[in-house]
Amino acid sequence: MTAIKAYAAYDAETPLKPYTIERNDIGEKQVQIEILYSGVCHSDIHTAKGDWGPAIYPLVPGHEIVGKITAVGNGVTKFKVGELAGVGCFVDSCRTCVSCKAGDEQFCEEGMTGTYNSYERGTTRPTYGGYSTSITTDEDYTLHVSDKLDLTGVAPLLCAGITTYSPLRRLKVGKGHKVGILGLGGLGHMAVKFAASFGAEVTMLSHSPSKEADAKKLGAHHFALTSDAEVMKSLANEFDVILNTVSADHDYNEYLNLLNTNGTMIIVGMPSAPAVIPAATLVLKRRSIMGSLIGGIAETQEMLDYCAEHNITSDVEVIDMAYINEAYERMNKSDVKYRFVIDMVSLK
Ligand code: NAP
Ligand code: ZN
Ligand code: ZN
Repeated sequence: MTAIKAYAAYDAETPLKPYTIERNDIGEKQVQIEILYSGVCHSDIHTAKGDWGPAIYPLVPGHEIVGKITAVGNGVTKFKVGELAGVGCFVDSCRTCVSCKAGDEQFCEEGMTGTYNSYERGTTRPTYGGYSTSITTDEDYTLHVSDKLDLTGVAPLLCAGITTYSPLRRLKVGKGHKVGILGLGGLGHMAVKFAASFGAEVTMLSHSPSKEADAKKLGAHHFALTSDAEVMKSLANEFDVILNTVSADHDYNEYLNLLNTNGTMIIVGMPSAPAVIPAATLVLKRRSIMGSLIGGIAETQEMLDYCAEHNITSDVEVIDMAYINEAYERMNKSDVKYRFVIDMVSLK
């Protein structure tokens, strides 16, 4: 065991504070990663604040991790010391169920082992995430990271990137599709980049008028202010796909009505309140709602390779670890351009 510096939520109410965790010694098939940057996802806030139920406290969030390999176990074949590596939202799964075998480890029938707020498989030892200086992971749950891209902008790809890439690919979004991206935050800005890169006609649907110019710079062809009733009326039945990234409770029906016949709303944002949806909203236009959860390991690697090839990274604001509580407050006010990324040097 090695003592590692970290930052933790001690409960749902108080600010995050310094905390020391114990990381396991490196196993046969494990790699040790010195964490260089860690992205800040709204799921970190939901989990720390108990929005989805009680968390395992003290909780060390962070599941958008990039760093350098500092040691490898004797049985490791995929990584070498000195290489860059990434870790996303989970660090293990059963490896034998139908979902794991299909490369959908995030849907593991025994439950994936989350990078934080989980227990190491078969133990009562909590997992701790990326708001820390080092992590030890199984090589099969570790990603290769290109050295061609700016590393600060790569960290958010490990969650915001794959969460938006995966469902857009599943629906084969591309040329000829009209796509609405709802919510311009961490997930939303990656969704705009991917949908535009895949060739779709992209409209940013945002409740923040100040984000119009940025939305267009990110690749959106149009911007629609969702608080403007006239604008919303003009977009009725407009979209083939809407990717909903909103983190706060909201009325889904307003946006479902913007889908055309056969249109699909992909839900990735996870507000805590349940949605009430009249059957007619779906039935009368054969509309669908689908959920999507991050992506499997192979697809995450595919996404990282796609980003390296097409020079796609996240637009980030790099912060020190001690700024995390302000960052959470700003994210709750939709004030982030467009992902906070912690420089882990600030924790050393
Ligand atoms: P974020 O950076 O905080 O962005 C959320 C965006 O939602 C805001 O920037 C804002 O965009 C919009 N929004 C916020 N409050 C709103 C309100 N009251 N009404 C309308 N729009 C509002 O969050 P994120 O990190 O992208 O995460 C978004 C959600 O996805 C969270 O719930 C998170 O837990 C979830 N998530 C899910 C997965 C998955 O696998 N399914 C993975 C990661 C995250 P505008 O200012 O443009 O309106
Ligand atoms: Zn996340
Ligand atoms: Zn499984």
